[in-house]
Amino acid sequence: MSGAHIVVVEDESDILEVLSYNLRREGFEVSSSLNGVQGLELIQQQLPDLVLLDLMLPGIDGLEICRRLRSNSASQHIPIVMVTAKGEESDVVLGLGIGADDYLVKPFSPKELIARVKAVLRRASAGAEAAGEQRVLIDGLDIDTSKYKVALNGEEIKFTATEFRLLHYLASHPGRVFSREQLLDRGFSTDAIVVDRNIDVHIRAIRKKLGDDQNFIETIRGVGYRFKDAD
Ligand code: CA
Repeated sequence: MSGAHIVVVEDESDILEVLSYNLRREGFEVSSSLNGVQGLELIQQQLPDLVLLDLMLPGIDGLEICRRLRSNSASQHIPIVMVTAKGEESDVVLGLGIGADDYLVKPFSPKELIARVKAVLRRASAGAEAAGEQRVLIDGLDIDTSKYKVALNGEEIKFTATEFRLLHYLASHPGRVFSREQLLDRGFSTDAIVVDRNIDVHIRAIRKKLGDDQNFIETIRGVGYRFKDAD
């Protein structure tokens, strides 16, 4: 957990300093911004493990940042802790309603800050593990996320990390059609220049490794791809 990357968005520089200092001392990696617009950009670029978000910010406020992070699939699972002044309780309720994970009311002690951040990170990683445990078994294909292994009729097949995630994602939703754009949006391209063709390249590699006889992944012309429904 220490070493986790945290973005802090807070327009009062002395509070920002206190927050950053205490988080760093605890071993966290901290990036920060004094401004809502830049803060949002920073979060979207870096996709940190957690965001500490002040409510009242110039430009766009914390609630709007929270709303935008939650509406984008790349950032929707990033834990958000809101930082509020006393008397902003109604905003806190609103913030929790649109997906903030927890909140801190100023003034707070460093001890309280660290305890809250650690608790939220712990919950988030427990959730991610639970989501990653889904094993997929379809027509002789066994995708085991706990061991990061794929086998077809008992024979192990090696995939790259991207191929593995893409295959697991498609196979977890058999029969459902995904556009290339939807797949890219779910983070299946780590290339600097993201183009639709990247998905085609990964799919081609996956198909080749699975062998052609079983056509697990169907091409839906003009749309995208679909993992075949179980027979
Ligand atoms: Ca503020």
